[in-house]
Formats: sequence, structure tokens, C-alpha cells
Amino acid sequence: MLALERTDPELYALIRKEERYQRDSVRLIPSENYASQAVLDASGSVLQNKYSEGYPGRRYYEGQRYIDRIESLAVSRAQALFGAEHANVQPYSGTPANFAVYCALLQPGDTILSLALPHGGHLSHGADVSMTGRFWRPVRYGVDPATGRIDMDAVREIARRERPKLIVAGGTAYPRRFDFHGFGEVAREVGALFLADISHIAGLVAGGVHESPLPHADVVMTTTHKTLRGPRGAMLLCRQGLAEAIDKAVFPGLQGGPHNHTTAAIAVALQEAAAPEFAAYARQIVANAAALAEALTARGFDLVSGGTDNHLLLIDLTRKGVIGKRAARALDRAGIVCNFNTIPDDPRKPWSPSGIRLGTPAVTSRGMREAEMVRIAGWIDQVVAAPDDEEAGRRIAHEVREFCRAFPAPGLLTGDTVAVG
Ligand SMILES: *Cc1c(COP(=O)(O)O)cnc(C)c1O
Repeated sequence: MLALERTDPELYALIRKEERYQRDSVRLIPSENYASQAVLDASGSVLQNKYSEGYPGRRYYEGQRYIDRIESLAVSRAQALFGAEHANVQPYSGTPANFAVYCALLQPGDTILSLALPHGGHLSHGADVSMTGRFWRPVRYGVDPATGRIDMDAVREIARRERPKLIVAGGTAYPRRFDFHGFGEVAREVGALFLADISHIAGLVAGGVHESPLPHADVVMTTTHKTLRGPRGAMLLCRQGLAEAIDKAVFPGLQGGPHNHTTAAIAVALQEAAAPEFAAYARQIVANAAALAEALTARGFDLVSGGTDNHLLLIDLTRKGVIGKRAARALDRAGIVCNFNTIPDDPRKPWSPSGIRLGTPAVTSRGMREAEMVRIAGWIDQVVAAPDDEEAGRRIAHEVREFCRAFPAPGLLTGDTVAVG
């Protein structure tokens, strides 16, 4: 980034500071990861200079000889990795991709059945504050208060009563497996279409540690930047029969020119995700989450649903006597980055809920394993026990920085040669 350093030293210094922050802290936000240098190279490339409205072979601009090949490569890699008949790699991100699905498959006012936001669902599944909740009629299923898990009998009952046009399975704070087979059966029984939103778990599906929704779902949406470890973007996978409607909804329905640099970076990430090392990475994400869950449980933390099957943990801090926001802020000061989160049926408000959410995709990308999760659990325990102890926070931040040195993160400069303005 020599040119940037010369032309805009102020901005360059901020990027370098962010890079050092990403290097020196334990990043436990489950939707985040470290993309590889190869992904970063593609996404910072000259491909961003090109306009290519349309799809390979059917563009509205000339000069697509290489762009068509790049997008076709991304599409064929997506089809191969997930076993999909059709792939659209153009959505700018997950929220517009879901919007495109609703535009393709529904009429305004049609009913969408999805996981309730405070139970771990996503805003783009029909939340009140989202336009998706304005243009369509959302109805919700939740998790069973006793088990913290989705009860498929309850989902079936709601579906029979509400007759949704679309059922969505997927979420951002659900630490258990989604029964995609079960959702497919319910959808068929009530004559609904089935959208599986695997944004959080796409890397686990690609790595073979979570059931694939593909045989069961009509459409699959995933972001590309979470466990899949690609650039910020999204993909839609579907049967051939829905391909035209999906493609038309993305472009020209909702978007203009595709972000070709992102398309290329998605192609790179998909190739990385097809390698045997990626399956080992996906297994280790889950093993690390289980180890973190066990170590925190042993230290008296309450995990929603009692544990995890995937890459994330949702912790109810009520018994610890600390609210989520205070814990998350204190953890950040101590070099451990996570987010405050609502727990199912949270008695507190969404902007200051009772829990925190932790995930292992990023730390696993740095090569951390079970032993490191135990160490991290120890720090979390110390911080949550005394969130206002700034002296302890500084000491832990120092320990975390030293600890992180042994685990270089993909795509980041490693040494202390990083210039910080
Ligand atoms: C992250 C996420 C999205 C939205 O992704 P953005 O790229 O942030 O718009 C949609 N659905 C689920 C389940 C997600 O986890």
C-alpha cells in the first residue's frame, strides 16, 4: 500500500492501526474472520474499474472478455463446492440477497415464517425495523424456553396455522444445528417455499461438519465473509427452475453493476474452501467452540441451550451480575473482542441485553486450538468477574497481545515492522 501511504498518510495510518488491533486482539465475533492474502489481493484489484451489468455472455457493456471468465469461474466453483444447480454470485451482501429472494418468490404482503430476531434470527428475515418486515408479513417461530432449541413440532404447528409462502431457516445467534430436512418437510406440507440462510455456517457446510441444506431448500443464501472466509459479499444457490427469477431479482431488480473485484475474491475463497485443509479448519472451528463452551461452563457461565454444535456460543450473564454491554466493553479493553447480544426472552432491551455472543472462526484461522480456548476462557472469567478493574484489564490486554504473537493471522502483517502513525 505504498501509494496510499504517500497520497493519504492519515487514512493509511488508520488502516495500519486497525491491522495492528486485529493482530493484537482475540477476535471472538462469530460473523468475523481473517480473509487470506489471496482473497485480499483479488478484492483490491483493478477488476473494480469495470462495469458489467448483466450475466456472463449477456452483458449490457462491451469489454467483458476477462470479466465473463472470472464470474463464470466463481459460479462454477460455487456450484461444485455446494452441489448446486445454479449460483448467483452478484449480491452485494447478505441483506440485499435475502431481499432479492423475497422479490423473486413472493408478492408484497405475502407471509414469511422465520426465526424470531430475539431468539437468534436475522434482521433481514422480516424484523419490524427492516424493510423486509414492512413489505412482507412476518410470522415467527422461536426456541423452546426449556431447551433453547428450535422445536420442529412447534414450527409445523405455526406453519399449518399461518400458511406462509416462504419459510426461512437460519440465524445469527443460534448455537445449535438447523434441521434442514425437517424444515423442508414442513415447507412441502404447507405448500411453502424454503429459504435456508447459511450465512453463519457456510464454511461448516463446505467443510462437511454441518448438514447441507441443498437437497431440502428451494433457495440457499449465504454471505461469503463469515465462516466461508471470503470477501464481504453474498451468493444465492438454487434449482434450475428458480434460476431465472432469482437472477432477474438480483439484476436488474435490485442491483446495478456487479462488484467484479468481489466476484474474483469469492472465486478465490471458494477454491480455498474446496481444499482438504479447509475441512480440517471447519472441524477445528467446531472443536474450539466446544472447548470454549466447556471451559466457560466449568467457570460457572450459563450457555443458552447448554452448549454449542457449531461455531458460536450465546452466554446468559444474568447469574454473573453483569449486563452484556458492560462485559463486552470490558472484554474489548482487555483485548478480547465480542458483542453484546439478546438471549431468548431477554428481560432487558435489545440495545442493552443480558448476554454476549462468542465465536471461534477467526481465532481458528490463526491456528489456535483447544488449549488456547481454555486460556481465553480464563481471561473472559477474570474480566467478567471484575469489569471495572482497569488495572486488571490492562494486564490482560498485555498478556493477550503476547499470546497473539504466536498465532499469525492470515492476511495481516506479522512483525513489529508495521508502521503506526
Ligand atoms: C450476516 C447475516 C446476514 C446479512 O449479511 P450482511 O452482509 O451483513 O447484510 C443475513 N442473514 C444471516 C443469517 C446473517 O448471519
